[in-house]
Amino acid sequence: ASLSSKSGELQFDAATGLAPAIIQDADTGQVLMLGYVNQEAWAKTRQEGRVTFFSRSKNRLWTKGETSGNFLQVVSHHVDCDADTVLIRVLPAGPTCHRGTTSCFVQPQEAAVPAAPIGFLASLERLISERKQFPERAPASYTVSLFKKGIPKIAQKVGEEAVETVIDAVAGHRDTLTGEVADLLYHLLVLLAASEVTLAEVIAVLQERHRLPNTRHLTEE
Ligand code: AMP
Ligand code: ZN
Ligand code: ZN
Ligand code: ZN
Repeated sequence: ASLSSKSGELQFDAATGLAPAIIQDADTGQVLMLGYVNQEAWAKTRQEGRVTFFSRSKNRLWTKGETSGNFLQVVSHHVDCDADTVLIRVLPAGPTCHRGTTSCFVQPQEAAVPAAPIGFLASLERLISERKQFPERAPASYTVSLFKKGIPKIAQKVGEEAVETVIDAVAGHRDTLTGEVADLLYHLLVLLAASEVTLAEVIAVLQERHRLPNTRHLTEE
């Protein structure tokens, strides 16, 4: 923190040559681990698009996942206010902690505690898009079969699930409503992917409406 900052360019500690790197899941926002980078590790991380640390215990460059396969794919990086720390948003290939937990800050017995449940929709969107792009990787997948049938069939499924949702809600069947809404959300995500619309674009529309004082679109019949 005593180093001068050169407009967002990451600065390394003068004594150790290191800077801390906070690793955060890009989908859920969960903090996964903390590591250190030196100039070389940071350059390699940016070059390869996956995280390489400088390991103080191994005393060498350490690409996270080099033996476990649980690499950290870089989505974005953000240098802090005084440029002595970097936040790296990643898509982890598997559990980040060597104990097998998602995060180093989660105790093994708490591993099932969800970080931000809403973030799962983004993970699901990513899986669905992978099914669309690489159908040969999962030939028996229901999602793949939906993409093969095309938009009219997927849209019909969305309609059916919406009707089932409405029926359960009106009848007060709370126990089956959750399952129907899950079916609806899943098929809606498949329809969005088939239509090449992202959840981020839809959320941007919601945010724009939220920002506007005029809420006419909500009250229209
Ligand atoms: P990996 O980089 O995942 O292939 O793991 C290689 C070695 O690095 C493991 O055997 C652990 O000693 C260590 N290690 C892996 N993940 C972590 C972590 N999240 N925090 C600290 N050490 C780790
Ligand atoms: Zn700082
Ligand atoms: Zn750990
Ligand atoms: Zn259903």
